[in-house]
Amino acid sequence: MTPITTSTIRHSFRRFFPLSCAGCDGHVTGGAGFCEICEPTVHPIAAPACAICQVPMESFETPRHGASECSRCRQNRPHFDTARALWEYEGAVADALRRIKYGADFPALRALCRQARPWFVDQLREVEDKSRLIPVPSYPSELRRRGFHVPSMALRLLLKGAPVPTIIDSGLKKTRATEQQAGLTYDGRRKNIRSAFDYGPGFAPRGQAILFDDVMTTGATADEGARALRRAGFSTVKVIVLARAPMGVG
Ligand SMILES: [Zn+2]
Ligand SMILES: [Zn+2]
Repeated sequence: MTPITTSTIRHSFRRFFPLSCAGCDGHVTGGAGFCEICEPTVHPIAAPACAICQVPMESFETPRHGASECSRCRQNRPHFDTARALWEYEGAVADALRRIKYGADFPALRALCRQARPWFVDQLREVEDKSRLIPVPSYPSELRRRGFHVPSMALRLLLKGAPVPTIIDSGLKKTRATEQQAGLTYDGRRKNIRSAFDYGPGFAPRGQAILFDDVMTTGATADEGARALRRAGFSTVKVIVLARAPMGVG
């Protein structure tokens, strides 16, 4: 008789309760994040992209001879050193993030993070020991309205079982409620989020600051968050997001 092990239990569990796709109500096999129908709409960010904010350059402009930074980064240098995203914000990735944010679809969040985990852990390989992973915070009233905080939940799922030298730090605070960034113009977004972050008492810069959010659109929120982290004393601020919208959005 075959002995019953944890892996046989897990195997039977998966057979009867297959994992769900992040982007639709379908199921996936082999631990993938997306089903076969959604997978072709999932696009990792490809070169050429801005060396600072990683916006895909072809969606915005043709880089000038020798220029590797987008025109927005050249005009208004962000307070972060680099931003890195795994996917373009479109197709099944955008569907998944909307299902999570507006429909509290936690199986979709688990599926998304399952797929992103190897890339995310790879991003942390070069960081200094005890570097801070800082989720972009919500204001308490915004948090109460939604009932959950996507960046914090995603970070925990992404780090599951990963031996990385980082500490999740919730010392960055949002100091006022802001309008939803979606639907605002680029200038509107910058104004809306201006000076909306600060750090709490006892927040000490250790290692590098890695500001984490689920999605980056114009980069205005990440820029303001990074500005507060610089003020707190971090000399290096990196931004990591799961998805990056093309520059034309917002
Ligand atoms: Zn699907
Ligand atoms: Zn840029």
